[in-house]
Amino acid sequence: MAVISYKCPNCDGELVFHPATQKYKCEYCASAFSQEELAQMKPATEEEERVSELQQRRQAEDVSSRDMWDGNQENGGRQSQGGEEGVMYRCPSCGAEIVTDQTTAATFCYYCHNPVVLSGRVSGQFLPHKIIPFSIDKEQATKKFLEYVHSKKFVPKAFFNKQQIEKISGVYFPYWMADMDMSGSLQAEGKNIRVWRSGETEYTETKIYHVQRDGNIHLEDITKNALKKNSLKLAEGVLPYDVSKVQEFHMGYLSGFLAEKRDLERTDLQAEVSEDAREFGGKLLRDTVGGYSHLSVRSCQLRTERENWDYIMLPVWTVTYKGRDGKMYYYSMNGQNGKVYGELPVDAAKVWILGIAIFAAVFLLGLLGGWML
Ligand SMILES: [Zn+2]
Ligand SMILES: [Zn+2]
Repeated sequence: MAVISYKCPNCDGELVFHPATQKYKCEYCASAFSQEELAQMKPATEEEERVSELQQRRQAEDVSSRDMWDGNQENGGRQSQGGEEGVMYRCPSCGAEIVTDQTTAATFCYYCHNPVVLSGRVSGQFLPHKIIPFSIDKEQATKKFLEYVHSKKFVPKAFFNKQQIEKISGVYFPYWMADMDMSGSLQAEGKNIRVWRSGETEYTETKIYHVQRDGNIHLEDITKNALKKNSLKLAEGVLPYDVSKVQEFHMGYLSGFLAEKRDLERTDLQAEVSEDAREFGGKLLRDTVGGYSHLSVRSCQLRTERENWDYIMLPVWTVTYKGRDGKMYYYSMNGQNGKVYGELPVDAAKVWILGIAIFAAVFLLGLLGGWML
């Protein structure tokens, strides 16, 4: 598997993607390039050529998603199935060994700290269809993290000390995103009841309606985490993203960030996505029925006519922290819009102190009350 680091065409320094300008920036000579400029200036590497060839083929074929799924197997046959913990690569800049786990797709060299992309993990059947690049950089992410932590009570100092803040990482996490067309049919019984009185007699009029709804339903961007080891809450707590900013995938976007490759397949998530689609679809159909005081749904059939799945990389800033209780705590932030999901540790000592303070206050009031009597 090839290890790629992106080099500046001017000085051969390391290029990293810069969220604020959405360009690639050279750390050494301060040049900046857009994706298009870079593609024109730099002869594509063999790996990149293969990637763009695959992308073109995908577009040309315009196949149903299931065919696309089967068709790409041939390119990704080298995935290791073994249970070994670490995998070793050589850093193209300094030659040192880079140890990664099975799902790492982009990382940094431990010794020279240059960004590297493990191209084999984002090509072949693992070539993402799309990506949303980071728009929040590390500085902004750190600031937001501190603001968030300070707005919460009882968070232990160790969660946001300097060492911990330096560990804040920008990670591209893998997701599956599904669009669905369904046809639906709903049968229900609607009732309107009118009660009135005339003299000593109370009249009740019940009108019963048979309600029938048929319609086509289109659902977009049902998004699911595609990495087993991810905390589901962390990965899905940062949703949704603005998908109008989706870009075609280029490996260069990963440069300067961490990235993970999926280990959950479409087949693993199909049932869950279908279930979600049924639920949304059923609700949409029900919501078209109005004007009855009682409605009971007799039956609701939904049939999937067409579905399209995209494998997509989404940007997340994340901090993890192992609490003294041994539990893992997560902070994650949407790298596009800054939406935060956090599961913060609680410092028991801080809660205690507040508890004692309140108790002392109540006790004092009690004493005061006693004296007044
Ligand atoms: Zn340069
Ligand atoms: Zn290195």
